[in-house]
This record gives sequence, structure tokens and C-alpha cells, in this order.
Amino acid sequence: MSLDTLRFDNRFVRDLPGDPQQGPGVRQVEGAAYSLIEPTPVPAPRLVAYSAEMAETLGLTPADLASAEFADLFGGNALREDMQPWAANYGGHQFGVWAGQLGDGRAISLGEALTAAGGRWELQLKGAGPTPYSRGADGRAVLRSSIREFVCSEAMHHLGVPTTRALCLVATGEPVVRDMFYDGHPRAEPGAIVCRVAPSFIRFGQFELPTSRGDVALLRQLADFTLARDFPHLAGRGEARYADWFDEVCARTASLMAHWMRVGFVHGVMNTDNMSILGLTLDYGPYGWIDDYDPEWTPNTTDAQRRRYRYGQQPNVAWWNLSCLAGALAPLFGDVAPLRASLERYAELYAGHERANAVAKLGLGVEREGDLALMQSLQEAMQQASLDMTLTFRTLGEMDVQTATPETFRELAYDEACFRAAAPGLADWLRRYAARLAGDPRPAGERRRAMHAVNPLYVPRNYLAQQAIDRAEQGDYAGVHELLDVLRDPYGEQPGREAYARKRPEWAVRKAGCSMLSCSS
Ligand code: AMP
Ligand code: MG
Repeated sequence: MSLDTLRFDNRFVRDLPGDPQQGPGVRQVEGAAYSLIEPTPVPAPRLVAYSAEMAETLGLTPADLASAEFADLFGGNALREDMQPWAANYGGHQFGVWAGQLGDGRAISLGEALTAAGGRWELQLKGAGPTPYSRGADGRAVLRSSIREFVCSEAMHHLGVPTTRALCLVATGEPVVRDMFYDGHPRAEPGAIVCRVAPSFIRFGQFELPTSRGDVALLRQLADFTLARDFPHLAGRGEARYADWFDEVCARTASLMAHWMRVGFVHGVMNTDNMSILGLTLDYGPYGWIDDYDPEWTPNTTDAQRRRYRYGQQPNVAWWNLSCLAGALAPLFGDVAPLRASLERYAELYAGHERANAVAKLGLGVEREGDLALMQSLQEAMQQASLDMTLTFRTLGEMDVQTATPETFRELAYDEACFRAAAPGLADWLRRYAARLAGDPRPAGERRRAMHAVNPLYVPRNYLAQQAIDRAEQGDYAGVHELLDVLRDPYGEQPGREAYARKRPEWAVRKAGCSMLSCSS
């Protein structure tokens, strides 16, 4: 087999108890952290895209990527001897309700790859076929959602947002039937498999499941395993280790939320089974990117009524999810006071990040009283004027503060009438902003550079991903490659690629995949 530089050391299956039963039959799996299960082969695996950065991190050569074996391995048609494929067992709260056992219904981990540089990376195929956790679904994934996960997770990495990664995208040659809007119109779509990569895919729901079953022994095993493998720096903390660990999870999650809010990302399904213990963005489904600024917006049609997972709500939902995790870990604590204290610290940390985001995104230099209020006023003005979030922040960095007027932003508005109505408020805000910046000693060029380093120009807007998907569904993957390439440098200007930095075009407002997405993927 090629990929000789990779070594596998599968601690998750070695150190934790597995399901004694074989095969993909759907079942409740008690007392076990995973089920061993092999990917189901596909008719015609073909590598259609890969991440050069991730390949390099794993030490894979161009020859590896080009080999037929590569497509076979990452299409689920072949295994190396040292791979031990498994599906993880976990539960979760979905839309606020305890859902019991969920587990990897279509994700199959191949193994934990050790790199020459000392990294440990779990390789996981999403869409590799049924597992004991498939609950009546097919274990497969369609090309459109696979492209969305592949492109967005790599884009997030380049944006500096903690995330699971993606190594490659393999077309399977097998049609997958989906009813995209659950409205009785199923159709066959091309199938695909993404190879996701992360140091750990452990989710909050992994701890919730054993606790829900009163299985404290398994809970403790999982917690000790996670500490040993994923939080090695907490070793030697003795009895305090669980408290320190939860505190760190809270801190990482607070930081993740601040990143999402900074770049305008809406996850769409922040169920506790989609929350990473490492504070990574995990499970790219009906996610979206803010075009016209609207804290109420959610891309997920399944959540359109209650909007539980709307953009502006994400930091609060993360707190709620952390409190579920705290409840799950409580049996490990004699006294739950440290769990309470960390949940409180989450709120303080997030509030600090929110102020820091305001200072950085507005280019204010050193934080002062009133900076957060200045940001909130801008957000109100953006919303009233229907301004594009990404381009507004970019323009703030570009413009001359002394001469800027509402007119400077006119092109960024989605609705001319809204813009006109909001123009006086925007003018007022610009005066306040100019006054605030008057006290900043930095030269304008320096401020511009600092702002452009936190306010991206290129983000994987929903309609951009959809354009790449439309072409890919016709067999042309060049759009995927180009989008991926643009998103490798989201903060820099890329002459000739201005089309990728434009606001959402009118046609995309009602088109499926561009503003509305369902969980059907
Ligand atoms: P999600 O909210 O998309 O993260 O998925 C929730 C649960 O449904 C997880 O346990 C998934 O593994 C499972 N699931 C989603 N899609 C499929 C599918 N096509 N086949 C099997 N299981 C699935
Ligand atoms: Mg999930």
C-alpha cells in the first residue's frame, strides 16, 4: 500500500470499550464507546478535490494523491492493515430536547494517523455507509453537502477559526436519494465522501450518553481517555483535572463563538452532538454566512420557526450546551461548584472576546469605555440599512474616516429603500466613529492593515458554494478548485478574483442552497 509515511495508532479503539456485536444492524449500544464497522464499498471512487495543506500536514506526496489506491482508501473501498474502522457512540440534545443515542450514522473513522512532525490526526470518512447508528438512514452523503463541508472547513482554517479539517473529496459514482425540503420530492443526486481530519472528533454528546444511562464507569473512562489523549497538558493535576478540563472546554468554546461572530458564520445545528470537546467547528450541515447583517438570520429551514440557532443567539446556545456537558460530567464531581464557576467564567470570557472583536474589527487600537456600544450602534445601522456585513467591515478599513459619508456604503446595501431610510443614522454613526478614531495615534495604513487581518474579504458565501456545486453536479469540478483556492487567502486582496468578493446577487435570494438549507444531506 502507498501512503507509506503514515503510521496508525488507534488509541480510541485500543483504550476504550467497544461494542461486542458485529455488523451494521441498527441497535442500542450500551457500555461501549464505539462499534467497529467497515466502510461499504462504492462503485466508482474518484478523487475530485483535495486540500494541499492538509495533505502536506499528513506528509502525503503528490504521487500518493494521484494513485488509484488513494481514491480506493478514501472512497471506502480499501483499508490498510493498521486501520481499524469504527463509528463512535454518542447522544445529544437536538433543538433543546434530549434525543438519546445518536452516534456516527454515516461517519466512519479509519484510524489515528501519526505524522513525522509528531501530530495525531483522526481520519474520518463522512458518507461511508451504514453503521449501527444509522437509525434507518442510508449512511451516505450527497455531493452538494460534501462540497459544502469540504470547502467551508478548509476556509475556516484559513480564516483562523478552530475547525475540523478536510483532506479530500471523493465522488462515489453512486446516486443517493434525498428529499431536499422534505416536501415529497425525492430525487437521485450524485454521492460523495469527504475525509474529515481532526485531532479528536469527541463531542459533548459522548459524555451525555453514558450519564443518561447511569453508566458512570464508562463516563469516567471516556473522561480519562479524553484528558490523556486530547488534553495531555492537564496530566498531573490530580483531582483538580476534571475541573480544569471543563474550564478549558468553556474557554475554548467562548473563543470559538467569538470567531464565528467575527466572521459572520452561522452553524445552523448547534445540537450538543455537534459540539466539539476541543472547541472546533464541527459538522458542517445547513450552515450559512451572513450577507445582509441580521442577528435573527438562520440558514436552516428546519429551524425557521423558532430560530433557536440564529446568528445572534450562538454564544448563548453554546452556554446552554456547556451546561448540558456540565450536567453530564457532574457524576465525576463530589461538589459541582467548579462546574458552576466555569459556566460563569464562560460568560465573562465571551463578554471580553466580544469587546475585543469590537476593538479589532473597528480598528480602535486600545479598548476604551463605550467601544462595545459603538459596535452595537454600527450593527443596528447595518441591519436597518440592509448592508452586507463582510463588505461593510472591509470598507471601514479602506475608507478615509474624515470624508466618508453614507454614500460610501450605498453599493453594499441589499435594499435601496432601507438604505435611504437608514442613511441619517449611518451618518451619525460615522461622526461618532471619526471622533473615536481621532484619539488613535496609529497611522491610517497601520490601522488598515490591522483591520484587514480580522475582517475577511473572501468568505464562502452560500451562493458561491452553490455555484461550485451546480458545476460539479455537471461533472465540472473546476469551480470547487477555484473557490478552495480563493479561500486560502481570505484576508488578502486577490486581483482578478473580485467576483468572489461581491455581495450576494439578487437571483440567489430565493434559490435553494443559497439562502435556505435543510438538514437533508
Ligand atoms: P446531524 O444533525 O446532521 O449532525 O446528524 C444527526 C444524527 O443523524 C447523527 O447521528 C448522524 O450520524 C445521523 N445522520 C445524518 N445523516 C445521516 C445519514 N444519511 N445516514 C445515517 N445517519 C445519518
Ligand atoms: Mg452531527
